[in-house]
Amino acid sequence: MKLPFFLAKRFVAGESFSKSLPAIQELTGKGLFVTLDLLGEYVTDRNVANQARDSYIKLVKVVDESRNFQQEANISIKLSMMGQKIDNYLCQDNLHQLLTVAKQHDVFVRLDMEGSDITESTLSLFKAAYREFPDHVGTVLQSYLKRTQEDVDEMCVLNARIRICKGAYKEPAEIAYQDMPTIRTHYLTYAKQLIKDARYPGIATHDDQLIDAVKAFVQEESIPKDQFEFQMLYGIRPDTQLDILNEGYNMRVYIPFGTQWLPYFTRRLQERKENVWFVLKNLMRR
Ligand SMILES: Cc1cc2nc3c(=O)[nH]c(=O)nc-3n(C[C@H](O)[C@H](O)[C@H](O)COP(=O)(O)OP(=O)(O)OC[C@H]3O[C@@H](n4cnc5c(N)ncnc54)[C@H](O)[C@@H]3O)c2cc1C
Repeated sequence: MKLPFFLAKRFVAGESFSKSLPAIQELTGKGLFVTLDLLGEYVTDRNVANQARDSYIKLVKVVDESRNFQQEANISIKLSMMGQKIDNYLCQDNLHQLLTVAKQHDVFVRLDMEGSDITESTLSLFKAAYREFPDHVGTVLQSYLKRTQEDVDEMCVLNARIRICKGAYKEPAEIAYQDMPTIRTHYLTYAKQLIKDARYPGIATHDDQLIDAVKAFVQEESIPKDQFEFQMLYGIRPDTQLDILNEGYNMRVYIPFGTQWLPYFTRRLQERKENVWFVLKNLMRR
C-alpha cells in the first residue's frame, strides 16, 4: 500500500528533484549548505541497484549544474541501494563509477551509515574508495555503536571526512549502547576528537546539549568555526538551523527526496513522539 506523500511532507522535500527544488533554493538562499539524498535502501535486485547508480550519477550532474545555489555541492547516498546486500563487488564497481563522475564534477559524496549488518562492509568500501578519491568521499560513524572509538581513531589517522551522529537503527545491546546519557557522552568525545584530528567533520544532531558542548569546546580551544560544520535534517528545528548559522557556524541541511520515503519517514517517527503528533495533527486538519 502506498501512503500519500503529504504525510511525509515535513521531513521529505518532494517526490522528485524538480519538486524539491523550491525547498532547496529557499534554504540555500538563506546561506545554509545542503546535502541531497535520493531516498531508497536495501535493494535486492541487480538491475535496481544499477538503476540507483545511474540515478545518483544523474543527481551529481544536476547538483553540479545548480552550483549557483550551492557553495560546495554535496550528496548523501546509501550503499545498500547500489547492491551492497547483493554482491560487494557489484557495489564497489557502482561506487567507483559514481565517484569517477563526482570527481569530474567536483561533487562530494557522503556514504550514509545504515544498520550494523553492513557497518563493516560500508567502512571497507569507504576506505578502498577513499584511497582513490580522498577529496570526494566521506562516511558516517554512529556513537551508539560500541566499536566506534576504534573507527574514529582510524578515521583520524586517515584524515577522512566523517559525519558523527547518534545512530538511527534499532541495534542489540551486545553491540550498541541503549541509554541516551552514554550515547551522548560518547558522541561528544568523538565529535571533539574529529574536530581536532580529522578533516572538516559534520556534527549531525538536533540535540542542544551536544550542540552547546561542541560550541563551548571550540571556543575554549580557539578552534576556527569553519573547521567543521553542524548538520541537521530537513524539516527539523529550522529556526535553530538559522540561529546556528547566524552565530557564524557552517550549517548543512540534509534534504531527502524521492518516492521511496517510507523507511526514512518511519525512522523519524520512531525517534521522537512529537514527530508522530505533528503528522497526526496534519492528518486531522485535512
Ligand atoms: C544530518 C544528519 C544525518 C544523519 N545521518 C545518519 C546516518 O547516516 N546514519 C544514521 O544511523 N543516522 C543518521 N542520522 C540520524 C541520527 O543518528 C539520529 O537518529 C537523529 O539525528 C536523532 O538524534 P539527535 O541527536 O538529532 O536528537 P534526539 O536524540 O532525537 O533528541 C535529543 C534532544 O534533542 C532535542 N531535539 C531533538 N529534536 C528536536 C526537535 N524537533 N525540536 C526540539 N528539540 C529537539 C531535544 O532536546 C531532545 O531531547 C542523521 C542525522 C542528521 C541530523
